[in-house]
Amino acid sequence: MTQLFGKPLVTQEAMRTRIKELGRDITQYYQHKDLVLVGVLKGAFMFYADLVRAIRLPVTVDFMIVKSQLRGNTTGKVKVLTDLTEEIQGRDVLLVEDIVDSGLTVQHLTRQLSKRKPKSLQVCALLSKPARRQIDVNVHYIGFEIPNHYVVGYGLDYQQQYRNLPYLAVLDPKSVEAP
Ligand code: 5GP
Repeated sequence: MTQLFGKPLVTQEAMRTRIKELGRDITQYYQHKDLVLVGVLKGAFMFYADLVRAIRLPVTVDFMIVKSQLRGNTTGKVKVLTDLTEEIQGRDVLLVEDIVDSGLTVQHLTRQLSKRKPKSLQVCALLSKPARRQIDVNVHYIGFEIPNHYVVGYGLDYQQQYRNLPYLAVLDPKSVEAP
């Protein structure tokens, strides 16, 4: 699998360093708050697992399973397949996303979660592709801004494959059918 991708776009080392920094920032901001960390699956699973261990606070973990893309391109339709198990009313919610591309998924999820009246709602994304943005969404914590490439690995897939690649790579269009 590794040889399909050549040089990583973001190495494991760079990921580790940046996630430590994010964890420090989040720890500082959420002191004495009732933090609920909401992971958006499946893409955020690896990032979430590393991020939560970099946060030095009591934290409630919860997840949503969301489908927001069709064969590599976002459709604009966001479907919640599995909802939270925790009540978030009056609590401090941090939504953890893999990547913000058009911004539609973040917009949809923050609108839905806001209706449940959390005390605060912020967004943390491992990756952001500013060149692809269609909606001006507020992402409070960003791991890396990346150029307009389709990326896989570290939780992100192409047709449900490559999520277990331990670093982030640009999908080689020659090695698979174009998304
Ligand atoms: P948005 O709604 O912001 O356009 O897209 C968000 C979702 O699209 C992400 O959560 C992710 O599932 C998918 N996505 C967008 N860009 C990429 C990419 O480069 N690689 C992968 N694997 N998924 C992407």
